[in-house]
Amino acid sequence: MSKEFKGKMFVFTAPSGAGKTTVVRHLLKKFDHLGFSISATTRDKRKGEKDGKDYYFLSVEEFKARRRSRKFVEWEEVYEDQYYGTLKSEVERLWADKKHIVFDIDVKGARAIKKKYGDQCLAVFICPPGVETLIERLTNRNTESEKSLKKRISRVKREMKFQNKFDKVLINDLLEVTLEEAEIIVEDFI
Ligand code: 5GP
Repeated sequence: MSKEFKGKMFVFTAPSGAGKTTVVRHLLKKFDHLGFSISATTRDKRKGEKDGKDYYFLSVEEFKARRRSRKFVEWEEVYEDQYYGTLKSEVERLWADKKHIVFDIDVKGARAIKKKYGDQCLAVFICPPGVETLIERLTNRNTESEKSLKKRISRVKREMKFQNKFDKVLINDLLEVTLEEAEIIVEDFI
Protein backbone atom coordinates (compact mmCIF):
# COMPACT_ATOMS: atom_id res chain seq x y z
CA MET A 1 0.00 0.00 0.00
CA SER A 2 1.32 3.50 -0.75
CA LYS A 3 2.40 5.66 2.15
CA GLU A 4 -0.07 8.38 3.07
CA PHE A 5 1.00 11.81 1.81
CA LYS A 6 1.61 14.40 4.52
CA GLY A 7 2.01 17.79 2.91
CA LYS A 8 4.87 19.93 4.19
CA MET A 9 5.90 23.49 3.51
CA PHE A 10 9.20 25.28 3.02
CA VAL A 11 9.04 29.00 3.40
CA PHE A 12 12.07 30.80 2.03
CA THR A 13 12.43 34.39 2.91
CA ALA A 14 15.25 36.87 2.61
CA PRO A 15 15.95 40.50 2.06
CA SER A 16 15.54 41.33 -1.62
CA GLY A 17 18.73 40.41 -3.51
CA ALA A 18 20.00 37.77 -1.05
CA GLY A 19 19.71 35.02 -3.67
CA LYS A 20 16.42 33.57 -2.50
CA THR A 21 14.96 33.09 -5.97
CA THR A 22 18.10 31.23 -7.13
CA VAL A 23 17.88 28.85 -4.17
CA VAL A 24 14.16 28.26 -4.67
CA ARG A 25 14.54 27.60 -8.41
CA HIS A 26 17.38 25.18 -7.76
CA LEU A 27 15.35 23.17 -5.25
CA LEU A 28 12.33 22.99 -7.53
CA LYS A 29 14.50 21.64 -10.32
CA LYS A 30 16.26 19.16 -8.06
CA PHE A 31 13.24 17.67 -6.28
CA ASP A 32 10.19 16.48 -8.22
CA HIS A 33 8.06 16.33 -5.13
CA LEU A 34 8.30 20.07 -4.48
CA GLY A 35 5.89 22.59 -5.98
CA PHE A 36 6.09 26.38 -6.10
CA SER A 37 3.38 28.46 -4.51
CA ILE A 38 2.51 31.06 -7.14
CA SER A 39 1.60 34.26 -5.33
CA ALA A 40 -0.84 36.91 -6.41
CA THR A 41 0.55 40.41 -6.85
CA THR A 42 -0.51 43.84 -8.05
CA ARG A 43 2.95 44.90 -9.16
CA ASP A 44 3.76 45.27 -12.86
CA LYS A 45 4.94 42.24 -14.72
CA ARG A 46 8.72 42.27 -15.35
CA LYS A 47 10.23 41.33 -18.68
CA GLY A 48 10.13 37.57 -19.13
CA GLU A 49 7.58 36.95 -16.37
CA LYS A 50 4.41 34.98 -17.14
CA ASP A 51 1.00 35.26 -15.55
CA GLY A 52 0.14 32.00 -13.78
CA LYS A 53 3.77 30.92 -13.70
CA ASP A 54 5.75 33.56 -11.80
CA TYR A 55 2.74 35.28 -10.26
CA TYR A 56 -0.96 35.73 -10.74
CA PHE A 57 -0.92 39.37 -11.82
CA LEU A 58 -4.03 41.11 -10.50
CA SER A 59 -5.31 44.67 -10.49
CA VAL A 60 -5.59 46.31 -7.08
CA GLU A 61 -9.40 45.95 -7.33
CA GLU A 62 -9.16 42.24 -8.09
CA PHE A 63 -6.72 41.76 -5.24
CA LYS A 64 -8.93 43.59 -2.78
CA ALA A 65 -12.00 41.62 -3.86
CA ARG A 66 -10.17 38.35 -3.13
CA ARG A 67 -9.05 39.75 0.19
CA ARG A 68 -12.63 40.63 1.11
CA SER A 69 -13.82 37.15 0.24
CA ARG A 70 -11.03 35.67 2.38
CA LYS A 71 -9.25 33.91 -0.43
CA PHE A 72 -5.77 34.52 1.02
CA VAL A 73 -3.77 32.50 3.54
CA GLU A 74 -1.71 35.65 4.07
CA TRP A 75 -1.19 38.92 2.23
CA GLU A 76 1.03 41.98 2.63
CA GLU A 77 1.41 45.43 1.18
CA VAL A 78 5.10 44.69 0.61
CA TYR A 79 5.75 48.07 -0.98
CA GLU A 80 3.45 51.07 -1.01
CA ASP A 81 0.44 50.20 -3.19
CA GLN A 82 2.00 46.87 -4.17
CA TYR A 83 0.16 43.94 -2.70
CA TYR A 84 1.36 40.34 -2.58
CA GLY A 85 -0.45 37.34 -1.18
CA THR A 86 -0.69 33.56 -1.00
CA LEU A 87 -4.02 32.21 -2.19
CA LYS A 88 -5.65 29.36 -0.26
CA SER A 89 -6.32 27.72 -3.62
CA GLU A 90 -2.55 27.45 -4.22
CA VAL A 91 -1.99 25.48 -1.03
CA GLU A 92 -4.93 23.22 -1.89
CA ARG A 93 -3.79 22.74 -5.50
CA LEU A 94 -0.24 21.72 -4.54
CA TRP A 95 -1.17 19.38 -1.72
CA ALA A 96 -3.87 17.75 -3.88
CA ASP A 97 -1.06 17.17 -6.37
CA LYS A 98 1.03 15.58 -3.55
CA LYS A 99 3.70 18.25 -3.64
CA HIS A 100 5.46 19.77 -0.67
CA ILE A 101 5.09 23.50 -1.05
CA VAL A 102 7.90 26.00 -1.55
CA PHE A 103 7.17 29.65 -0.83
CA ASP A 104 9.25 32.66 -1.84
CA ILE A 105 7.70 35.39 0.25
CA ASP A 106 8.58 38.36 2.44
CA VAL A 107 9.52 38.18 6.12
CA LYS A 108 6.10 39.05 7.52
CA GLY A 109 4.29 36.66 5.20
CA ALA A 110 6.74 33.91 6.11
CA ARG A 111 6.06 34.39 9.79
CA ALA A 112 2.32 34.33 9.19
CA ILE A 113 2.56 31.00 7.33
CA LYS A 114 4.81 29.51 10.01
CA LYS A 115 2.40 30.58 12.72
CA LYS A 116 -0.54 29.09 10.88
CA TYR A 117 1.02 25.75 9.88
CA GLY A 118 3.50 25.21 12.76
CA ASP A 119 5.43 21.92 12.57
CA GLN A 120 4.22 21.22 9.06
CA CYS A 121 6.28 24.21 7.95
CA LEU A 122 10.00 24.92 7.93
CA ALA A 123 10.83 28.61 7.76
CA VAL A 124 14.24 29.43 6.29
CA PHE A 125 15.86 32.86 6.28
CA ILE A 126 18.46 33.35 3.57
CA CYS A 127 21.03 35.85 4.64
CA PRO A 128 23.45 37.71 2.39
CA PRO A 129 27.05 37.80 3.67
CA GLY A 130 26.70 41.54 4.33
CA VAL A 131 24.32 44.39 3.69
CA GLU A 132 26.87 46.07 1.39
CA THR A 133 27.08 42.99 -0.83
CA LEU A 134 23.35 42.87 -0.96
CA ILE A 135 22.93 46.49 -1.99
CA GLU A 136 25.54 45.92 -4.67
CA ARG A 137 23.70 42.84 -6.01
CA LEU A 138 20.42 44.66 -6.00
CA THR A 139 21.89 47.63 -7.86
CA ASN A 140 23.67 45.44 -10.43
CA ARG A 141 20.52 43.46 -11.11
CA ASN A 142 19.28 46.55 -12.88
CA THR A 143 15.61 45.62 -12.69
CA GLU A 144 14.46 48.59 -10.61
CA SER A 145 14.01 52.32 -11.08
CA GLU A 146 16.00 54.52 -8.68
CA LYS A 147 12.93 55.13 -6.52
CA SER A 148 12.11 51.45 -6.33
CA LEU A 149 15.75 50.62 -5.55
CA LYS A 150 15.73 53.03 -2.61
CA LYS A 151 12.52 51.47 -1.25
CA ARG A 152 14.05 48.01 -1.57
CA ILE A 153 17.30 48.96 0.17
CA SER A 154 15.49 50.48 3.12
CA ARG A 155 13.37 47.36 3.41
CA VAL A 156 16.45 45.11 3.35
CA LYS A 157 17.83 46.89 6.41
CA ARG A 158 14.58 46.36 8.31
CA GLU A 159 14.19 42.71 7.30
CA MET A 160 17.70 41.70 8.37
CA LYS A 161 16.69 42.19 11.97
CA PHE A 162 14.21 39.30 11.84
CA GLN A 163 16.56 36.45 11.04
CA ASN A 164 16.57 34.97 14.54
CA LYS A 165 12.82 34.30 14.26
CA PHE A 166 13.30 31.49 11.73
CA ASP A 167 13.87 27.73 11.99
CA LYS A 168 17.02 27.91 9.85
CA VAL A 169 19.35 30.66 8.68
CA LEU A 170 21.23 30.03 5.47
CA ILE A 171 24.13 32.39 4.76
CA ASN A 172 24.49 32.83 1.03
CA ASP A 173 28.19 33.49 0.68
CA LEU A 174 29.28 30.88 -1.86
CA LEU A 175 26.28 29.94 -3.98
CA GLU A 176 27.37 26.33 -4.63
CA VAL A 177 27.64 25.68 -0.91
CA THR A 178 24.35 27.41 -0.17
CA LEU A 179 22.54 25.27 -2.73
CA GLU A 180 23.93 22.09 -1.22
CA GLU A 181 22.95 23.20 2.26
CA ALA A 182 19.46 24.01 1.04
CA GLU A 183 19.14 20.50 -0.43
CA ILE A 184 20.12 18.97 2.90
CA ILE A 185 17.61 21.15 4.76
CA VAL A 186 14.84 19.94 2.44
CA GLU A 187 15.80 16.26 2.64
CA ASP A 188 16.04 16.35 6.42
CA PHE A 189 12.61 17.89 6.84
CA ILE A 190 10.68 15.56 4.56
P1 5GP B 1 9.30 40.83 -6.23
O1 5GP B 1 8.53 42.06 -6.58
O2 5GP B 1 10.79 41.08 -6.24
O3 5GP B 1 8.91 39.63 -7.07
O4 5GP B 1 8.92 40.45 -4.73
C1 5GP B 1 9.02 41.38 -3.71
C2 5GP B 1 8.90 40.73 -2.37
O5 5GP B 1 7.57 40.21 -2.19
C3 5GP B 1 9.83 39.53 -2.20
O6 5GP B 1 10.40 39.57 -0.90
C4 5GP B 1 8.90 38.36 -2.35
O7 5GP B 1 9.41 37.22 -1.69
C5 5GP B 1 7.65 38.90 -1.69
N1 5GP B 1 6.45 38.12 -2.00
C6 5GP B 1 6.18 37.45 -3.14
N2 5GP B 1 5.02 36.81 -3.05
C7 5GP B 1 4.53 37.05 -1.80
C8 5GP B 1 3.36 36.63 -1.09
O8 5GP B 1 2.52 35.88 -1.58
N3 5GP B 1 3.22 37.09 0.17
C9 5GP B 1 4.12 37.91 0.75
N4 5GP B 1 3.88 38.28 2.00
N5 5GP B 1 5.23 38.32 0.12
C10 5GP B 1 5.44 37.90 -1.14
